[in-house]
Amino acid sequence: NLRLTGMGRYSNVGIKMEKGLGREIAETRECYRNGSTKPISWRRSQLQALRSFLVDYEVQIFRALNLDLGKHYVEAFRDEDGILKKSVNLALQELKRWSASTKAKLPAIALLSYAELVPEPLGLVLVISSWNFPFGLSLEPLIGAIAAGNAVVLKPSELAPTCSSLLVNALPKYLDNQAIKVIDGGPAVGQQLLQQKWDKIFFTGSANVGRMVMSEAAKSLTPVTLELGGKCPAVLDSLSWSWDKEVAMKRIAGTKYGSCAGQACISIDYVLVEKSFSSAVVELMKAAIKTMYGDNPKESHSIARIINKHHFLRLKNLLADQKVKDCIVHGGSMDEDSLYIEPTILVDPPLESAIMTEEIFGPLLPIITLDKIEDSIDFINSRPKPLAIYAFTKNEVLRKRMVSETSSGSVVFNDAIIQFAADSLPFGGIGESGIGKYHGKFSFDTFTHYKAVVRRSFFTDFWYRFPPWNNHKLEL
Ligand code: NAD
Repeated sequence: NLRLTGMGRYSNVGIKMEKGLGREIAETRECYRNGSTKPISWRRSQLQALRSFLVDYEVQIFRALNLDLGKHYVEAFRDEDGILKKSVNLALQELKRWSASTKAKLPAIALLSYAELVPEPLGLVLVISSWNFPFGLSLEPLIGAIAAGNAVVLKPSELAPTCSSLLVNALPKYLDNQAIKVIDGGPAVGQQLLQQKWDKIFFTGSANVGRMVMSEAAKSLTPVTLELGGKCPAVLDSLSWSWDKEVAMKRIAGTKYGSCAGQACISIDYVLVEKSFSSAVVELMKAAIKTMYGDNPKESHSIARIINKHHFLRLKNLLADQKVKDCIVHGGSMDEDSLYIEPTILVDPPLESAIMTEEIFGPLLPIITLDKIEDSIDFINSRPKPLAIYAFTKNEVLRKRMVSETSSGSVVFNDAIIQFAADSLPFGGIGESGIGKYHGKFSFDTFTHYKAVVRRSFFTDFWYRFPPWNNHKLEL
């Protein structure tokens, strides 16, 4: 029995709001201005401290994720704690190289000169994060912001209260509290924060709030990174071997139900298959669900819970329409007390229904049937650009078309969600799924301004550089 229980809420000893948000932020800005966050030694010490927090508080992190979201500790390690340790280690290892200036070439007119790109921190940055990966989505940007030498104010989501309490109360024990502040609060605090002056806002959350963040930021021309969501499709080609099909099904079910019960921005939202293959897909999906969660998934410790009653009712509502309910071919049971929703499969719910127009963000999986799998390209292109497209196929032509004819934050073939763990790949959306990118060196770049610095010798200039040019008349 691996479900962890028994951790109470932390007392709120984080930012003392009575001191005034404005004064807290002014203190942090001053800390940036006086240069304390710029030295590599400061950045290194803070990253090491962040790593110590992850090591010392590993069990509390697992417990908090279990209490707030019902995540199993293996899932918690795989998706948050483990990835964060890897990211902080990479930043520590590469810090010197990332922070170093790089030489640049100049054109001939700049004879006898030297140019370089000098990475400089942006200044004081605001990070607002979401609840579904409360540690990952708060600390991954924090790693980039610290590595780049910024002062940071972090506001985790109020909807994962045990996790945010841990971030507000325990993390500051490790970090430089003048330069890095963690602030507790929900939308009202978020609004107050947006009224302040920042050098960058890094936001993870919904498109609606993202729009608000961007319009507030526009007033002072503050740059933003928006990590948003949307509906990520998985295209499932009729794979030739039963073995391939089983692997595909395991990966689809594991992504949809096994990563925060589908409450993930890069979860599979719906599956596209050829009509002739759909009944086989349903049977294979049922088998995969049974293998992962047994006969009674409600008793399983391997599926997370819905974050709160509001989201539970939102998901319940997606199935309320009788036309949608009639499409359920597996699952559909729910328990409001334990915020449990059974892994559910639907076939061909109406395309105009909410389940097919809104981001699902839960363990409900519509399977949409098409005449030909190639039609999936038009299907995807007729909707907002997704954060990720997944395609399970061995068809080389389809693979090439998927990359060249669709637009999304990422494309993954024959698996899903693994792109999140790769430091070498930019993570971020396009269009309605977001603006900007991070992870690995991309996180450093997101919080860095590359300043162009040019130095010339006082010696010699080409004659055409300065007037008068009277002696060089051109016959026109
Ligand atoms: P949300 O937009 O409701 O909240 C996100 C954050 O913004 C929270 O910290 C919240 O307190 C704050 N906030 C809410 N209203 C605000 C306001 N009016 N002013 C200022 N701040 C405000 O989103 P959510 O429910 O936390 O997350 C779900 C959404 O986030 C989904 O759409 C999902 O796809 C997306 N998401 C994206 C990523 C990604 O990396 N691209 C990761 C996780 C979640």
